[in-house]
Amino acid sequence: MHRHKLMKAAIVHSFAKPLLIEEVQRPTAGPGEIIVKIETSGLCHTDIHAARGDWPIKPKLPLIPGHEGVGIVEELGKGVTEVKEGDRVGIPWLGYACGLCRYCESGWENLCEKQLNTGYFLDGGYAEYVKGHAKYVGKVPHGVDPLDAAPLTCAGLTTYKAVKVSGAKTSDLVAVFGIGGLGHLAVQYARIAGAEVVAIDIVDEKLGLARSLGATYTVNAKESDPVEEIKKLGGADVAICVAVSPRAFEQAYRSLRRGGTLVFVALPADNYVQLPIFETVLNGITIKGSIVGNRADLAEVFALHAAGRTKVSREKRKLEEVNEAFEEVESGRAKARLVFDFR
Ligand code: NAD
Ligand code: ZN
Ligand code: ZN
Repeated sequence: MHRHKLMKAAIVHSFAKPLLIEEVQRPTAGPGEIIVKIETSGLCHTDIHAARGDWPIKPKLPLIPGHEGVGIVEELGKGVTEVKEGDRVGIPWLGYACGLCRYCESGWENLCEKQLNTGYFLDGGYAEYVKGHAKYVGKVPHGVDPLDAAPLTCAGLTTYKAVKVSGAKTSDLVAVFGIGGLGHLAVQYARIAGAEVVAIDIVDEKLGLARSLGATYTVNAKESDPVEEIKKLGGADVAICVAVSPRAFEQAYRSLRRGGTLVFVALPADNYVQLPIFETVLNGITIKGSIVGNRADLAEVFALHAAGRTKVSREKRKLEEVNEAFEEVESGRAKARLVFDFR
């Protein structure tokens, strides 16, 4: 029992103020819950949206953000059989779901109406210890570096699922808008699906990264019009928007060829896009929203990485650097993913 012990955490007290590093009570495990000692914790752009209160539904306050926490199971609550002490797990955005509704029963637990999200409604991985629901954590296979496992727990899972629901297949052209934490993995999953990739960003270094990960074409949207460039290639069969900008969503839409599919993944604070009805109908366009993925998807993401088929581009930071790290990501200076290293 750790009832009286303290832990270090990064905490949001107000949407208008920087995070504070504080000593707070360690969580304890109730029935079905586990306590995980965090080794690494990825910084997802969602954590910035959470800390700023960017979205229509606000997180709890005070909040410990983070839904890419990876660490070792240290304490088991009553009735836990899914994991054991010493296992390495990732604690994803889908922290809890009911297990009984039509979504949960059909592998769509990421749509469960009773879900609780880690680092939003539940305290997350920007802390030395985090509480997880044993049924909803992902087991990290041996041989996967915890620094890689962290970004895979959200960025990997989300883009793996987005590529799946896009229906991308061999000989398709997939346009990935935004080569950040999510986008650099989206490029790789589209390649694994057998597609050619065109990567779009507004920072040249990110385009270099995309090429090194298998993108055949790149467009800097600050220098040329991605719609024109992609149309020159015949148009995209699939466009996946992971850029935090409504303008990128509109460009992604217009870059599609007839019969194409646009997948909405990014969640910019500015919540609306303007898309034409007429062209959508006549061109037979499909638009899909995609939110993270289920537990089976996460297991597949880890398995692909363990098999050496994906590469995670990440840099280490200390939790004390959290506010500077947010700025690095927002300004586009971060290479791909930043990961807080607690070891
Ligand atoms: P990130 O900041 O690491 O990456 C965003 C990238 O987009 C950066 O490389 C940036 O340079 C680029 N970009 C910005 N404006 C652009 C433009 N106009 N055109 C092209 N590229 C542009 O962020 P991330 O962690 O990869 O997250 C991306 C978004 O996805 C966030 O809004 C996040 O909240 C959301 N997200 C959604 C889900 C989901 O399940 N749907 C899961 C995780 C994150
Ligand atoms: Zn995320
Ligand atoms: Zn449910």
